[in-house]
Amino acid sequence: MSTGKTVAIIGAGPVGLAAAAHVLERGMMPVVLEAGSAPGHSVRQWRHVQLFSPWEYNVDKAAARLLAPAGWKSPDPQVYPTGAELLERYIEPLATKTALRDMIRTNSRVSAIGRAGFDKAKTKGREAAPFEIRYRNGKGPETLRADAVIDASGTWASPNPAGAGGLPAIGEPESAARIAYGMPDVLGRDRARYAGKTVAVLGAGHSAIGTLIDLTTLALQVPGTRPIWLLRGTDPAKAFGGGANDKLSARGELGAHFASLVGSGQVQVEAGFSVAAIAQADGRLRIATSSACCGRSVVVDELVVATGFRPDLSFLGEIRLRLDPAIEAPVALAPLIDPNEHSCGTVRPHGARELAQDGAGFYLAGIKSYGRAPTFLMITGYEQVRSIAADIAGDKEAAARVELELPETGVCTRGGVESGSAAGCCGGPAKEESSACCAADETAKKAGSPGCGCS
Ligand SMILES: Cc1cc2nc3c(=O)[nH]c(=O)nc-3n(C[C@H](O)[C@H](O)[C@H](O)COP(=O)(O)OP(=O)(O)OC[C@H]3O[C@@H](n4cnc5c(N)ncnc54)[C@H](O)[C@@H]3O)c2cc1C
Repeated sequence: MSTGKTVAIIGAGPVGLAAAAHVLERGMMPVVLEAGSAPGHSVRQWRHVQLFSPWEYNVDKAAARLLAPAGWKSPDPQVYPTGAELLERYIEPLATKTALRDMIRTNSRVSAIGRAGFDKAKTKGREAAPFEIRYRNGKGPETLRADAVIDASGTWASPNPAGAGGLPAIGEPESAARIAYGMPDVLGRDRARYAGKTVAVLGAGHSAIGTLIDLTTLALQVPGTRPIWLLRGTDPAKAFGGGANDKLSARGELGAHFASLVGSGQVQVEAGFSVAAIAQADGRLRIATSSACCGRSVVVDELVVATGFRPDLSFLGEIRLRLDPAIEAPVALAPLIDPNEHSCGTVRPHGARELAQDGAGFYLAGIKSYGRAPTFLMITGYEQVRSIAADIAGDKEAAARVELELPETGVCTRGGVESGSAAGCCGGPAKEESSACCAADETAKKAGSPGCGCS
């Protein structure tokens, strides 16, 4: 099917590139705008991290079809790559050895998107107007016109701050030199920064746990390295995940290993620690739960903030967005992933219908589509963009079809690793209720409660 449409794709991460492969396969013209100097720019920042999903969940099908004639050999589906291997064995060949090569513009940061000639308030005739995408590539302001836009620009560059209320902690910006966000390469590139130091890690997700595990390894190699785990919740076991019940076993094992390190006292745990203020004291940081004199505090050399990410909506001001006010995900998707309602990592596959915004042709995809929810998987993104490309091409039947069996990730956290409650909590995918994330959620919703009750 050839529609002759031009589709602008923001971001050359795994999902943006998969979107381009699907768009191309449907006879349309993708133009990928990537802010970084190379495809996979965000993955490059966490290249040292081992993925918790094996290759079988990391390769998009249309991308694999595009790669096959280039002599690409699919990696062993059961092996867990690092970020670097994901780049070298998949993202880079896809971006440089296939037809996508000529469709990716690197060093091209999108700064604004609108409808040509139509400001946000103007409705009549709006649908027929092409999208106008403004971007900067160091050579002056550039403009691209497109029939549709897929925003797959990720969330990596907009981390949540340390402050518990969502605002930066008092003194956080001033202490930036001793604060890292995300997941620094503690055993590699950033080793000198952390070796022999007291390092606080704030957060309870996989990035925080991974960083703390690396710090315990560093502590065995360099005496004086001291990891402190700051978590807002009062129950550390909640961070240990589904353990043996997690169908993504590498993720389950990570949680179980971390539980044993905590159990053996290799990590100092400060639970119920909501950061309010960070002050510089004698070349160190005093991190406190209150900006007044009497809160709890720890004094450290470095702070790693791993409290998740939020979407950058700054260049979407002229798009008619309908996002959930809390999760900042599209309104139809938000109830499926809302961490307030359920903690299951399982989400039923979804596509164009849930991701489209008011006015045809604009879609959020990839990890950005999850807004502030932390449970995104690449394979979910691949299904999203398969459906979106079908929708743009006018193949509504394929857009509505579900072509993905997601792993039952079972990361309900109640009871921690030992209880084995995860499988019982999720109970597999939902069967009828479209707004339910899992069978348990479905049952709970039928009984009138808002979610599966395991959070
Ligand atoms: C440490 C870590 C480990 C993870 N492990 C797994 C895992 O094991 N399995 C799994 O399924 N998922 C994992 N994820 C989650 C998720 O799948 C990845 O974050 C994945 O990279 C998301 O892909 P994406 O294409 O949506 O976004 P990204 O990979 O973040 O790509 C977005 C791209 O958009 C570009 N961009 C940003 N702003 C602009 C702009 N204004 N203009 C142009 N370009 C822009 C960025 O430079 C980037 O290249 C992990 C995430 C992290 C952070």
